Amino acid sequence: MQTINRLDPLRHATAALRRDGPLALVPTMGALHEGHLALVRAARARAAHVVVSIFVNPMQFGAGEDLAAYPRQLAADSAMLESEGVGVLWAPAVETMYPEGFASHVAVSGVSEGLCGAARPGHFDGVATVVLKLFNQVEPDLAVFGEKDWQQLAVIRRMARDLDLTRPHAGAIIGIATEREADGLARSSRNRYLDADERRIAARLPRALATAAARLRAGDAAAPVLAALREELRAAGFSAVDYAEFRTAGTLVPLARLGAEPARLLVAARIGATRLIDNLAVG
Ligand code: AMP
Repeated sequence: MQTINRLDPLRHATAALRRDGPLALVPTMGALHEGHLALVRAARARAAHVVVSIFVNPMQFGAGEDLAAYPRQLAADSAMLESEGVGVLWAPAVETMYPEGFASHVAVSGVSEGLCGAARPGHFDGVATVVLKLFNQVEPDLAVFGEKDWQQLAVIRRMARDLDLTRPHAGAIIGIATEREADGLARSSRNRYLDADERRIAARLPRALATAAARLRAGDAAAPVLAALREELRAAGFSAVDYAEFRTAGTLVPLARLGAEPARLLVAARIGATRLIDNLAVG
């Protein structure tokens, strides 16, 4: 595996790999866990070579969020990727990604509004901008993202369609099912912020989500199901529920109850300073 942190050598390396067959990109912020590795394995299954990027993107963190505290462990991450057969680790410095004078950004309206976009203003502009830059830097044939960040996946697919991206095109943006701990908690780099008590509370989130999803699948109206879900999370020990919403899966339009279209139940809740998100398919 080559570890690269400058753009010229990256372009050189990816051009050589691409001659060999399709190239896949897996964008990450590092602090890798089994969820990230599931994306890498899915990428390897679909492409000849895999590029993984590790970049903690300041543009997608708001004031008062955990940018400085976000876990950074490049050596451990690199060892994991090496043993997964990754061809290139792309790990640019902030000054390489955003050189002096950088002044552009991508804004995707609609799908980026509400849900995580409400609590984190500017977050999805930061995500869309860095992902478009990564796409232009690596020029992958396909890119792999986790369904755990469902709204992020919807924003990136919208951007790819709206801006007629070709590397990758919208249809080559692959979503991979959420990887979970044995008790159902979605794996996340932020789970390490939880102490033992908080970790026990966190495990109630996927269970409460599954109960609510079952009621929605049975045809119950969304409003009482979502109210009960919020109440259950507060009673379980979550300090706040940022949102609990039922929306169409692709366009993220709020739903009063399950209809013919695929739908998604999405939640963000806090335990102290730690914010957890999760979502489930409904229908
Ligand atoms: P992050 O490093 O948190 O920005 O995540 C990088 C990629 O890994 C994103 O596409 C995430 O959706 C994905 N990801 C994070 N956690 C999981 C998980 N538990 N299962 C599957 N994919 C995940």
